[in-house]
Amino acid sequence: MRTLITVLGLGFLMFSVGCESQSASRQVKDATITAAVKTKLARDVRLATLTNLDVTTENGNVSLNGTVESEEVKRLSEETARGVSGVARVINNLQVAPKADTAKAHFIDSAGHAVGTALITEQSGGGVRFHLTLDKLPSGFHGIHVHEKGDCTKPDFKSAGKHFNPEGKQHGAENPKGFHAGDLGNIEVGSDGTVDVELTAPQLTLKATDHSLIRPGGTAIIIHAGRDDQKSDPSGNSGNPIACGVIEKAAFTYSAIHTTR
Ligand code: ZN
Repeated sequence: MRTLITVLGLGFLMFSVGCESQSASRQVKDATITAAVKTKLARDVRLATLTNLDVTTENGNVSLNGTVESEEVKRLSEETARGVSGVARVINNLQVAPKADTAKAHFIDSAGHAVGTALITEQSGGGVRFHLTLDKLPSGFHGIHVHEKGDCTKPDFKSAGKHFNPEGKQHGAENPKGFHAGDLGNIEVGSDGTVDVELTAPQLTLKATDHSLIRPGGTAIIIHAGRDDQKSDPSGNSGNPIACGVIEKAAFTYSAIHTTR
Protein backbone atom coordinates (compact mmCIF):
# COMPACT_ATOMS: atom_id res chain seq x y z
CA MET A 1 0.00 0.00 0.00
CA ARG A 2 2.76 2.39 1.01
CA THR A 3 4.58 1.62 -2.22
CA LEU A 4 1.47 2.31 -4.20
CA ILE A 5 1.01 5.66 -2.44
CA THR A 6 4.66 6.51 -3.08
CA VAL A 7 4.33 5.61 -6.72
CA LEU A 8 1.16 7.63 -7.02
CA GLY A 9 2.84 10.53 -5.23
CA LEU A 10 5.87 10.35 -7.47
CA GLY A 11 3.63 10.15 -10.49
CA PHE A 12 1.73 13.23 -9.36
CA LEU A 13 4.98 15.10 -8.77
CA MET A 14 6.21 14.25 -12.27
CA PHE A 15 2.85 15.24 -13.69
CA SER A 16 3.04 18.64 -11.92
CA VAL A 17 6.59 19.26 -13.12
CA GLY A 18 5.50 18.27 -16.62
CA CYS A 19 2.59 20.74 -16.49
CA GLU A 20 4.82 23.52 -15.29
CA SER A 21 7.38 23.11 -18.03
CA GLN A 22 4.55 22.77 -20.51
CA SER A 23 3.03 26.06 -19.37
CA ALA A 24 6.48 27.70 -19.44
CA SER A 25 7.00 26.57 -23.01
CA ARG A 26 3.45 27.72 -23.86
CA GLN A 27 4.36 31.16 -22.51
CA VAL A 28 7.50 31.23 -24.64
CA LYS A 29 5.44 30.21 -27.68
CA ASP A 30 2.85 32.92 -26.93
CA ALA A 31 5.58 35.56 -26.54
CA THR A 32 7.09 34.47 -29.85
CA ILE A 33 3.71 34.73 -31.56
CA THR A 34 3.13 38.21 -30.04
CA ALA A 35 6.50 39.41 -31.32
CA ALA A 36 5.89 37.93 -34.77
CA VAL A 37 2.43 39.54 -35.03
CA LYS A 38 3.83 42.95 -34.00
CA THR A 39 6.62 42.70 -36.54
CA LYS A 40 4.27 41.66 -39.33
CA LEU A 41 1.81 44.48 -38.55
CA ALA A 42 4.62 47.03 -38.43
CA ARG A 43 6.02 45.87 -41.79
CA ASP A 44 2.69 45.88 -43.58
CA VAL A 45 2.67 49.06 -45.66
CA ARG A 46 -1.12 49.03 -45.78
CA LEU A 47 -1.05 49.49 -42.00
CA ALA A 48 1.45 52.35 -41.93
CA THR A 49 -1.02 54.41 -39.93
CA LEU A 50 -1.26 52.02 -36.96
CA THR A 51 -0.30 53.13 -33.49
CA ASN A 52 -1.15 52.41 -29.86
CA LEU A 53 -1.84 48.84 -30.86
CA ASP A 54 -1.49 46.30 -28.09
CA VAL A 55 -0.94 42.66 -28.99
CA THR A 56 -1.27 39.86 -26.43
CA THR A 57 -1.34 36.09 -26.91
CA GLU A 58 -2.74 33.37 -24.71
CA ASN A 59 -2.63 29.74 -25.77
CA GLY A 60 -2.12 30.84 -29.35
CA ASN A 61 -5.14 33.17 -29.26
CA VAL A 62 -4.02 36.65 -30.29
CA SER A 63 -5.88 39.70 -28.95
CA LEU A 64 -5.60 43.00 -30.81
CA ASN A 65 -6.44 46.02 -28.65
CA GLY A 66 -6.19 49.72 -29.43
CA THR A 67 -7.51 52.36 -31.78
CA VAL A 68 -7.36 52.45 -35.56
CA GLU A 69 -8.48 55.04 -38.08
CA SER A 70 -10.87 52.95 -40.17
CA GLU A 71 -12.83 49.69 -40.49
CA GLU A 72 -10.49 48.81 -43.33
CA VAL A 73 -7.39 49.06 -41.10
CA LYS A 74 -9.19 47.05 -38.41
CA ARG A 75 -9.99 44.28 -40.90
CA LEU A 76 -6.51 44.28 -42.45
CA SER A 77 -4.87 44.12 -39.00
CA GLU A 78 -6.85 40.99 -38.19
CA GLU A 79 -6.09 39.44 -41.56
CA THR A 80 -2.37 40.14 -41.14
CA ALA A 81 -2.29 38.71 -37.60
CA ARG A 82 -4.15 35.61 -38.72
CA GLY A 83 -1.41 34.87 -41.25
CA VAL A 84 1.28 34.52 -38.57
CA SER A 85 2.48 30.98 -37.89
CA GLY A 86 1.19 29.46 -34.62
CA VAL A 87 -1.85 31.75 -34.34
CA ALA A 88 -4.95 29.75 -33.38
CA ARG A 89 -7.47 32.59 -33.38
CA VAL A 90 -7.49 36.40 -33.59
CA ILE A 91 -9.66 38.30 -31.12
CA ASN A 92 -10.18 41.68 -32.75
CA ASN A 93 -10.93 44.27 -30.03
CA LEU A 94 -9.76 47.22 -32.15
CA GLN A 95 -11.80 50.39 -31.87
CA VAL A 96 -12.36 52.64 -34.86
CA ALA A 97 -11.91 56.31 -33.94
CA PRO A 98 -12.86 59.24 -36.12
CA LYS A 99 -9.88 60.77 -37.83
CA ALA A 100 -8.26 63.39 -35.64
CA ASP A 101 -6.57 66.52 -36.83
CA THR A 102 -2.84 66.05 -37.06
CA ALA A 103 0.19 67.91 -38.29
CA LYS A 104 3.89 67.21 -38.48
CA ALA A 105 7.24 68.94 -38.65
CA HIS A 106 10.55 67.67 -40.03
CA PHE A 107 13.49 69.28 -38.26
CA ILE A 108 16.76 70.39 -39.81
CA ASP A 109 19.86 71.58 -37.99
CA SER A 110 21.77 74.73 -38.91
CA ALA A 111 23.70 72.80 -41.58
CA GLY A 112 20.42 71.63 -43.11
CA HIS A 113 20.72 67.99 -42.01
CA ALA A 114 17.56 66.13 -40.94
CA VAL A 115 17.44 65.65 -37.16
CA GLY A 116 14.00 64.20 -36.55
CA THR A 117 10.28 64.85 -36.53
CA ALA A 118 7.35 66.08 -34.49
CA LEU A 119 3.93 64.50 -34.84
CA ILE A 120 1.26 66.88 -33.65
CA THR A 121 -2.19 65.71 -32.60
CA GLU A 122 -5.26 67.64 -31.57
CA GLN A 123 -6.29 66.50 -28.07
CA SER A 124 -9.91 65.59 -27.50
CA GLY A 125 -9.96 67.69 -24.31
CA GLY A 126 -8.36 70.73 -25.99
CA GLY A 127 -4.78 71.64 -26.84
CA VAL A 128 -2.30 69.68 -28.90
CA ARG A 129 0.24 66.95 -28.18
CA PHE A 130 3.70 66.92 -29.75
CA HIS A 131 5.47 63.60 -30.13
CA LEU A 132 9.12 64.45 -30.76
CA THR A 133 11.57 61.92 -32.10
CA LEU A 134 14.92 63.61 -32.55
CA ASP A 135 18.53 62.66 -32.99
CA LYS A 136 21.99 64.10 -33.70
CA LEU A 137 21.45 66.87 -31.15
CA PRO A 138 23.80 68.03 -28.37
CA SER A 139 22.96 66.32 -25.08
CA GLY A 140 21.35 68.26 -22.25
CA PHE A 141 18.39 70.61 -21.88
CA HIS A 142 17.16 72.73 -24.76
CA GLY A 143 14.40 75.31 -24.87
CA ILE A 144 11.71 74.50 -27.42
CA HIS A 145 9.10 76.88 -28.80
CA VAL A 146 6.59 77.32 -31.56
CA HIS A 147 7.58 80.37 -33.61
CA GLU A 148 5.20 82.59 -35.54
CA LYS A 149 6.34 81.94 -39.13
CA GLY A 150 6.62 78.72 -41.07
CA ASP A 151 10.07 79.46 -42.48
CA CYS A 152 13.20 77.56 -41.39
CA THR A 153 15.95 79.28 -43.39
CA LYS A 154 19.31 77.99 -42.18
CA PRO A 155 21.66 78.61 -40.51
CA ASP A 156 20.14 80.91 -37.87
CA PHE A 157 16.39 80.30 -38.45
CA LYS A 158 15.63 83.97 -37.73
CA SER A 159 13.15 83.63 -40.60
CA ALA A 160 10.79 81.85 -38.17
CA GLY A 161 10.27 85.12 -36.27
CA LYS A 162 9.34 85.42 -32.61
CA HIS A 163 7.54 82.97 -30.36
CA PHE A 164 3.96 82.31 -31.41
CA ASN A 165 2.07 84.63 -29.08
CA PRO A 166 -1.53 85.28 -30.10
CA GLU A 167 -2.42 86.63 -26.63
CA GLY A 168 0.39 89.22 -26.52
CA LYS A 169 1.85 87.86 -23.26
CA GLN A 170 5.41 87.66 -21.99
CA HIS A 171 7.62 84.58 -22.21
CA GLY A 172 7.67 81.63 -19.88
CA ALA A 173 5.42 79.51 -17.69
CA GLU A 174 7.08 80.97 -14.57
CA ASN A 175 6.66 84.55 -15.70
CA PRO A 176 3.71 86.24 -13.93
CA LYS A 177 2.94 88.01 -17.21
CA GLY A 178 3.33 84.80 -19.18
CA PHE A 179 3.16 82.81 -21.17
CA HIS A 180 3.41 82.57 -24.95
CA ALA A 181 1.02 80.00 -26.39
CA GLY A 182 4.05 78.64 -28.26
CA ASP A 183 6.19 78.11 -25.14
CA LEU A 184 6.84 74.40 -24.83
CA GLY A 185 9.45 74.48 -22.07
CA ASN A 186 12.49 72.24 -22.40
CA ILE A 187 13.44 68.87 -23.77
CA GLU A 188 16.34 66.81 -22.45
CA VAL A 189 18.51 65.18 -25.09
CA GLY A 190 20.33 62.03 -23.96
CA SER A 191 24.08 61.42 -24.12
CA ASP A 192 23.49 59.56 -27.40
CA GLY A 193 22.03 62.72 -28.95
CA THR A 194 18.48 61.38 -29.13
CA VAL A 195 15.19 62.18 -27.45
CA ASP A 196 11.76 60.59 -27.77
CA VAL A 197 9.27 62.59 -25.75
CA GLU A 198 5.72 63.90 -25.73
CA LEU A 199 4.84 67.48 -24.82
CA THR A 200 1.41 69.01 -24.54
CA ALA A 201 0.41 72.59 -25.24
CA PRO A 202 -3.02 73.45 -23.84
CA GLN A 203 -3.20 76.83 -25.62
CA LEU A 204 -2.56 75.54 -29.13
CA THR A 205 -4.86 73.97 -31.68
CA LEU A 206 -4.92 72.77 -35.28
CA LYS A 207 -8.45 74.10 -35.69
CA ALA A 208 -9.17 77.40 -37.39
CA THR A 209 -8.80 79.88 -34.51
CA ASP A 210 -6.24 82.60 -33.72
CA HIS A 211 -4.36 79.98 -31.63
CA SER A 212 -3.98 77.61 -34.59
CA LEU A 213 -0.64 76.20 -35.68
CA ILE A 214 -2.07 76.11 -39.18
CA ARG A 215 -2.28 79.74 -40.23
CA PRO A 216 -1.38 82.02 -43.15
CA GLY A 217 2.42 82.18 -43.27
CA GLY A 218 2.61 79.04 -41.13
CA THR A 219 4.39 78.26 -37.87
CA ALA A 220 7.60 76.43 -36.98
CA ILE A 221 9.07 74.64 -33.98
CA ILE A 222 12.54 75.72 -32.90
CA ILE A 223 14.96 73.99 -30.58
CA HIS A 224 17.48 76.27 -28.90
CA ALA A 225 21.11 75.74 -27.85
CA GLY A 226 20.48 76.25 -24.15
CA ARG A 227 17.98 75.64 -21.40
CA ASP A 228 14.89 77.84 -21.22
CA ASP A 229 14.64 79.44 -17.76
CA GLN A 230 10.87 79.76 -18.37
CA LYS A 231 10.72 83.37 -17.22
CA SER A 232 13.10 85.70 -19.10
CA ASP A 233 11.28 87.62 -21.82
CA PRO A 234 11.27 87.14 -24.78
CA SER A 235 12.85 83.67 -25.07
CA GLY A 236 14.01 82.37 -21.68
CA ASN A 237 17.75 82.96 -22.28
CA SER A 238 17.75 79.77 -24.26
CA GLY A 239 20.43 80.82 -26.76
CA ASN A 240 20.53 80.49 -30.52
CA PRO A 241 18.25 78.20 -32.50
CA ILE A 242 19.96 74.90 -33.40
CA ALA A 243 17.10 73.09 -35.14
CA CYS A 244 13.88 74.12 -36.86
CA GLY A 245 10.88 72.37 -38.39
CA VAL A 246 7.99 73.90 -40.33
CA ILE A 247 4.61 72.70 -39.07
CA GLU A 248 2.49 71.19 -41.82
CA LYS A 249 -0.86 69.48 -41.92
CA ALA A 250 -0.26 65.70 -42.03
CA ALA A 251 -1.81 63.40 -44.58
CA PHE A 252 -2.77 60.77 -42.03
CA THR A 253 -3.59 60.40 -38.40
CA TYR A 254 -1.53 57.78 -36.68
CA SER A 255 2.21 57.23 -36.48
CA ALA A 256 3.68 53.83 -37.20
CA ILE A 257 4.47 51.29 -34.49
CA HIS A 258 7.94 52.75 -34.32
CA THR A 259 9.28 50.40 -31.66
CA THR A 260 8.97 47.33 -33.88
CA ARG A 261 9.54 48.76 -37.31
ZN1 ZN B 1 8.20 82.33 -25.46
